[in-house]
Amino acid sequence: MRKLMLGNEAVARGAYEAGVTVATAYPGTPSTEITENIAKYDEIYSEWSPNEKVALEVAIGAAISGARAICSMKHVGLNVAADPLFTVSYTGVNGGLVIAVADDPGMHSSQNEQDSRFYALSSKVPMLEPSDSQECLDFVKRAFEISEKFDTPVILRLTTRIAHSQSVVELGEKIEYKLKDYKKDAGKYVMMPAMARMRHVEVEKRMAALRSYSDITNLNVIEWGRKDIGIITSGISYQYAKEAFGEASFLKLGMVYPLPDNLITRFCEQVENVYVIEELEPFIENHVKKLGIKVTGKDKLPVLGELSANLIREKLLGTKAPEGYSIDVQVPGRPPVLCPGCPHRGVFYVLNKLKLTVSGDIGCYTLGALPPNEAIDTCVCMGASVGIVHGMEKARGKELNKKTVAVIGDSTFIHSGITGLIDIVYNKGNSTVLILDNSITGMTGHQHNPATGFTIKGEPTKQVDLVKLCNAIGVERVRVVDPFDLHETEKAIKEEIKSDEASVIIFQRPCALLKHVKYGKPLRINTEKCKKCRACMRIGCPAIVEKGSYLEVNQALCVGCELCTKVCKFHSFEKAGDICE
Ligand code: SF4
Ligand code: SF4
Repeated sequence: MRKLMLGNEAVARGAYEAGVTVATAYPGTPSTEITENIAKYDEIYSEWSPNEKVALEVAIGAAISGARAICSMKHVGLNVAADPLFTVSYTGVNGGLVIAVADDPGMHSSQNEQDSRFYALSSKVPMLEPSDSQECLDFVKRAFEISEKFDTPVILRLTTRIAHSQSVVELGEKIEYKLKDYKKDAGKYVMMPAMARMRHVEVEKRMAALRSYSDITNLNVIEWGRKDIGIITSGISYQYAKEAFGEASFLKLGMVYPLPDNLITRFCEQVENVYVIEELEPFIENHVKKLGIKVTGKDKLPVLGELSANLIREKLLGTKAPEGYSIDVQVPGRPPVLCPGCPHRGVFYVLNKLKLTVSGDIGCYTLGALPPNEAIDTCVCMGASVGIVHGMEKARGKELNKKTVAVIGDSTFIHSGITGLIDIVYNKGNSTVLILDNSITGMTGHQHNPATGFTIKGEPTKQVDLVKLCNAIGVERVRVVDPFDLHETEKAIKEEIKSDEASVIIFQRPCALLKHVKYGKPLRINTEKCKKCRACMRIGCPAIVEKGSYLEVNQALCVGCELCTKVCKFHSFEKAGDICE
């Protein structure tokens, strides 16, 4: 059967067909749909883990005990999971272990543009890279075979355009995978120095075997064409290069680590000019150069952002992109903005008003850095807001003390904010942490987390009580506030930042896009009452828009949350049906 599938969906199907029984992940664009789709298979135990490190550890446990397991994350998640990654490379596996990692060239939804291929190199873990949805499915299955054949975890690297593009996939049959026997083996699985030293020797032997395998596997293929140009490429860059160069010869690499030295050398000997076409860093290019081969690559192609067929034509062939249709329509700009009815809006309105220094975090609420609120000063990585506010206060003492807060979401707090808060308490900090609890992992598309009370399959489960959790780690000043109560929001923040001890304010109001959230009818502005003071614009609701010299409410956007009524002193906002025309 053939089916049009997203790359991520095809990875999920590949895991199913490979007989995976345990799948773990922390959501992160562009990888999220892998585990969302795996969770649809009843046969596979799936979970959203609190963070990527835990996700990988759970998958390692499953693999060591004899099952096939897959763990998925975005590129920055691999930083969080790096600790177990480097050591599972030493222990090896038992049942197969695949780590699916999605990089985000161009940073469509990420805070950096790191290239995960270097993790394969530095952790000595083989890496496969598919170039379409069919390969996403096929390579997952191949990755499990390699994992078990060489007793190693295998990284499957995707990029945004592979993860989120659709192409036709031929579905296969699910194999009946028999759990492997588990045998206690401290020399293999207990990585104390004496054992680890011996396992490192095994890793080096495995790398030598994998290098030989890379030379002969059909994951790496030569497509002969014109011999004046030979292109070495992989992943989505292969698709772009095919479009730009057509009849050239290609060495398409499906296994990007370890690279096939002999195959590369043979290919390059038979073509006149070698080009390496890859997104981000010159990972393949540097390796080819080390083999003593002259190549054209990053001297002409950018290391920033995504490639495209047009960019490759322009930079390598010096030709302009073919003329396309020009559409004579100005598409309105759509700057990123918190949704109408967003529960975070009230907090950012108040933070802007109080002119505090705010360390922010990863999630929808990062948008609080943008106009009109411009309330956030820093955003580094998941969970960083809490440590950063503590560092700022310790470094600048009185100057910043009691003028700073950290802002973090419920899911992010559990991911890695909680350890920062323990640090504040333990080291006698007095920072105030605002947990914006919208009862879901919002930015990645509504995934459950330990604070929502539901599993990935929507089953009710124990819910982490954030108040008790903060109390338990030693925060005595914890209060819960509705962020749409602007008076109480301001009062709570002012009081807590004055405190001489660590404090937490949990702003609880569910994401406006959750199904069960129902507000009233849309509002409109009564122009007879409106004094054009524009105070309502400061909450930054996209439903309030300019109309000539007046403002109006876009009825299609307004969700009737009534936050605007709390900032308009002239009571100009009314229910849409309340005004006599
Ligand atoms: S805050 Fe009220 S009075 Fe001021 S511009 Fe908005 S609707 Fe008009
Ligand atoms: S216009 Fe007012 S009621 Fe409508 S979504 Fe915006 S803040 Fe909420």
